[in-house]
Amino acid sequence: MSAAPDLALTNEILKHLREAGFARVGVCHAAPVDRADAFQSWLAAGHHADMRYMAEHLAERLDPRVMVPGAQSVVCVADRYSDGRPDARSVDGAPAGRIARYARGRDYHAVLRERLEPIAESLRNRFPGQRFRVCVDTAPIAEREHAVRAGIGRIGKHTLVIGQGGLGSWIVLGAIVTTVRLQPTEAAGGDPCGSCTRCIDACPTQAIEPWKVKADRCISYLTIEHHGEPAAWFRERSDDWLFGCDACIEACPHSQWTVKARMSPVRSDYAALQRHFTLEAVLRWRETDPAFQSLSPVLRRPSLANWKRNALLLAAGLSADRWNEGLRAAVCACEADETLPISVRQLAASTHP
Ligand code: SF4
Ligand code: SF4
Repeated sequence: MSAAPDLALTNEILKHLREAGFARVGVCHAAPVDRADAFQSWLAAGHHADMRYMAEHLAERLDPRVMVPGAQSVVCVADRYSDGRPDARSVDGAPAGRIARYARGRDYHAVLRERLEPIAESLRNRFPGQRFRVCVDTAPIAEREHAVRAGIGRIGKHTLVIGQGGLGSWIVLGAIVTTVRLQPTEAAGGDPCGSCTRCIDACPTQAIEPWKVKADRCISYLTIEHHGEPAAWFRERSDDWLFGCDACIEACPHSQWTVKARMSPVRSDYAALQRHFTLEAVLRWRETDPAFQSLSPVLRRPSLANWKRNALLLAAGLSADRWNEGLRAAVCACEADETLPISVRQLAASTHP
């Protein structure tokens, strides 16, 4: 393999990735991240909260050449999981909580990996002396920063990548880190935000400062990653998110359901299997229930106890007229359920209207 970037191989890989249905593809040098200082300050301030894994393997996270010695290039891909069409709150019928859109269809890790791995494997067979490591959220790599360098998109004040070509931030990212020297694609460049502050204004918990999200105030973190009961203020939030939160993406002008956004279809893998769960159903789940067992790995990230905590917190915020007998009985059942942590049972006891 020559030291010069292999343009023919780059184009061939990008062509295969496009044929595999990725909405956006690109390549960048395997180089240390630019925002290492900002990331380390964010960690030092404790904004990663319970996500201790963010502080682990820091050297790898800041430089892909530590994770893959001799790495020369990062091949980046994005899948579009939503076209951004408006999504109503669950205000009718039985009280329910919404699921963030990225988690409504098949598990995105599997959907990305099952198309990246065969391409990486065929490259391994062709270039046995080289490495091709597939990364889909499972490896310590700064996927967002590499995606920006590779021209997938630009980072907005909400800290998410805003995909080029009208994709908005309804995208999930994957990468192949390789020791082969490929030709980088062009970064988009420029600030996508200007004087806009819509995501900051729309965040229900004031978690966003420009280009910084305080995890310990973010609904996404608090409903998925956080263990234990969130701070008391969390009950007062005015929204219906049970798992994750899309409010900052929904507010962003780049992520609206526009004519341009409709041009690039969403893969059927991401078609919603469920968009919400009723609070009563969640409070009645058991570990062995088919409904709980059949949740995708991404939805199984919170424990059953934390799903119930999330449902109880939403129930606590309901007006008295939204309660029904089924929900009352399910809350009482939680209170009496000795298999649940005492914090969840106490939460149930304090949740009745
Ligand atoms: S996911 Fe929700 S809570 Fe978190 S920063 Fe975005 S709008 Fe705020
Ligand atoms: S809502 Fe506005 S400030 Fe926030 S990411 Fe989008 S363009 Fe940037």
